Amino acid sequence: MTDDPLLFASAATVYAAATEALARKFAHARSLSWFCTVCPPIRRVQSAEDLHLLPVQAVEDEQGGLLFSLLGEASHLAPGGGLTLTSGGSTGNRKHITHSWAFNDSIVRLGVRMFATGQTPSVVINCLTAGEMQGAFQYAAAIVQRLGARLLPAGSLMGLQRIAELVQSQKADALICTPSFAAALFNDVAVDRRQLGSLKWLYYIGEPCSALLREQLTRDWPGLTLRSLGYSATETGPIGFQCAHLEPGFYHLHADAMLVEVVNPLTLQALPEGECGEFLLTPLLPDHVPLLRYRIGDCGRIVPNLPKCACGSALPVLELVGRVETTIKLGGAIITQRQILSVLAQAIPDLHAADIQVQIDRQVNGACMRLVIAEDKLPAAAQGGLEQALHAEAQASALLKLPGVLGLQVRRLPRGAFATTTAGKTPFFVELQQAPTRLA
Ligand SMILES: [Zn+2]
Repeated sequence: MTDDPLLFASAATVYAAATEALARKFAHARSLSWFCTVCPPIRRVQSAEDLHLLPVQAVEDEQGGLLFSLLGEASHLAPGGGLTLTSGGSTGNRKHITHSWAFNDSIVRLGVRMFATGQTPSVVINCLTAGEMQGAFQYAAAIVQRLGARLLPAGSLMGLQRIAELVQSQKADALICTPSFAAALFNDVAVDRRQLGSLKWLYYIGEPCSALLREQLTRDWPGLTLRSLGYSATETGPIGFQCAHLEPGFYHLHADAMLVEVVNPLTLQALPEGECGEFLLTPLLPDHVPLLRYRIGDCGRIVPNLPKCACGSALPVLELVGRVETTIKLGGAIITQRQILSVLAQAIPDLHAADIQVQIDRQVNGACMRLVIAEDKLPAAAQGGLEQALHAEAQASALLKLPGVLGLQVRRLPRGAFATTTAGKTPFFVELQQAPTRLA
């Protein structure tokens, strides 16, 4: 892309641009008196080496995410308006952040980086969730516009059969959707596979694509190329992109627009280069409020000492390993441990995280959530009633309406029957490993 000189710039040029952008970010933060009041160490911070002096920012933390709440409020009041999006938070505590319109424009430049080499699509159906205070639908639309392709704004609620008809009648060559949506569409018994025959690309965003789904789609649809539309988050904007030469789970970091610290999740101390830990993100693009050291809940590493990528970009490569244990993504939504506990607390008093395990059973056509509750905490007779109560509960029923979410079950088990990791740990969220079951 000719309007993106940093994409193929040398590492030194990118580093210089990032250093300048970070200095501007700090200067902006220091110019906000309210920010200096709530975050006094900002006065002493001059460079990336000083970042550790600042507290981490998170939607939820021991202080209830106070700093993040203040950032959100200030972002809504900033002049010039902007795009207000939901950024997670537990029951009754939804948080929002407003990104300036200039920020929204500038992230599109990052979004098209993955298309800088190789072929680009001509007719794209956007099947992401429209509205719902999510930004992905608009972001994807802006990327397609920038590519100069034709865009069909279908959304996720049109129905799989109608989407399939649209693919066929418009000879669409690309879909943008969540992996859950793709799983549902490509395995829908009512969809004739000839209807989807024109598709060459599937760009997914919103959650990682499981190895199970990738294997199935690659096997059953050999003409289809699966690619991530980018590693991105509502709060931070784009973090990384996948050129055609990177394996699943690996992304070029937008190092000119995003600073990543990799830290020990318990101590928050920086880890040696190349080690896997939790990401703290500092977006460098100008925006209404300074998001500094944002705790996104993902873990991974920056891959050290790589030869220059075949795509020609010198941008560093980041490996995204997964979520830090206390949240999980389902149907494109982030579910937190705190959310699960607060929903269940209405039905079962005195419940602790160790009494529950949330098992995600991913199948090719979607995922089922199973709430396993220790049998000493739930009388046998109460199991059915709890399941019914959850289906009526607002957050749980909203989750069940998401594309690719197949159901919610409650199961009462002895604690010893909870699933464990190979390291012998009993995680709160666990993905069940199971052979793919093709629904015929
Ligand atoms: Zn590359």
